Amino acid sequence: MQKYRVGVLGATGAVGQKFVELLDGHPWFEVVALAASERSAGKKYIDAVNWIGATPIPEKIADQTVVLANPEEVDADFVFSGVDASVALEMEMAFAQAGMPVISNTRNYRMEPTVPLLVPEVNPEHLALIDRQAYSDHGGFIVTNPNCSTVGLVLALLPLQKAFGLEAVHVVTMQALSGAGYPGVPSLDILSNVVPHIGGEEAKMETEPLKLFGTLTEQGIQFADFKISASCNRVSVLDGHTESVSVKLKTAADLAAIKAVFRAFEDPIAHLGLPSSPTPLIKLFEDERFPQPRRHASLGNGMTVSVGRVRADALFDVKFTLLVHNTIRGAAGGAILNAELLVSKGYLKHRI
Ligand code: NAP
Repeated sequence: MQKYRVGVLGATGAVGQKFVELLDGHPWFEVVALAASERSAGKKYIDAVNWIGATPIPEKIADQTVVLANPEEVDADFVFSGVDASVALEMEMAFAQAGMPVISNTRNYRMEPTVPLLVPEVNPEHLALIDRQAYSDHGGFIVTNPNCSTVGLVLALLPLQKAFGLEAVHVVTMQALSGAGYPGVPSLDILSNVVPHIGGEEAKMETEPLKLFGTLTEQGIQFADFKISASCNRVSVLDGHTESVSVKLKTAADLAAIKAVFRAFEDPIAHLGLPSSPTPLIKLFEDERFPQPRRHASLGNGMTVSVGRVRADALFDVKFTLLVHNTIRGAAGGAILNAELLVSKGYLKHRI
């Protein structure tokens, strides 16, 4: 396959760097444009970026010159966006209106009625919304991925939602520091500490799953009708959001049936053979001590969601613990999987 030429908006940021790292050697995509603010534009990437990755900057990327993040400067088939949310609204729209698909990580367009909020295994049919975007005639569109904690939650709920339906979900998160970008939370705020507030996070977790599990209709997405209550905490962990989840099912089921559903669950898009699809999609632990972020966040190259401690709940039907890699499945890796699905469904084209 001729590789797609890809631009990264916000390439110098924490999420942008993860895009650069994960796209190195990608079989379908090649990074040809690194875009950021005027602070970075004109510099070599290696000089503009404060690289925080665990591996060195890919050789082909280090000497590329950073350009301004506008459609005139970025010559690519499509762009991944990891820009600061404060500038994403106008910038992403400018790219879409200029005829360039935008695969975004930012929150700005997630709840926009014609923009798919996408997790490929959960709601691939929502891609049909693209044709309802005003600028799609010129080839431009916006597709978003959810908040990093939401991705793990909806993937872990997916087997239960399919088998029994969902009535109510209560979730308490323990979120890693890398989710706050760089330099993120000051060390004196978080060492030996837990911060019981992450701005805007609870509202996102209480609404985004309802769109993701929503039904595509002529009028748009009809949101799912179950209730979610979320409490979000920042903890002193580098990578990997852990979530304690209690679920009330629409159709009651006993613990054995619930465990059997988790065990038997198969990745609904495995047949597409997308390069970033993990095996397994959901890793079910029987060992009571697991999952743990330091040991399991990188399973499936950071794309697997781990579930453990599945047990009866005194208030609802079942409770369990999940773990999701926040900067891979929850950000750049999730967006790359979205782009792979778009390729397989024929939405991404090579621009001449
Ligand atoms: P970050 O480290 O602060 O990076 C921000 C990026 O935006 C930098 O590349 C910066 O370029 C660029 N930028 C800022 N102002 C700009 C402008 N006026 N024009 C062009 N580029 C501009 O932030 P981050 O943690 O990577 O997060 C990026 C986005 O992803 C945010 O919207 C965030 O909410 C979302 N997100 C983050 C995570 C996570 O785990 N961190 C997860 C999911 C979603 P310069 O270096 O040139 O300033």
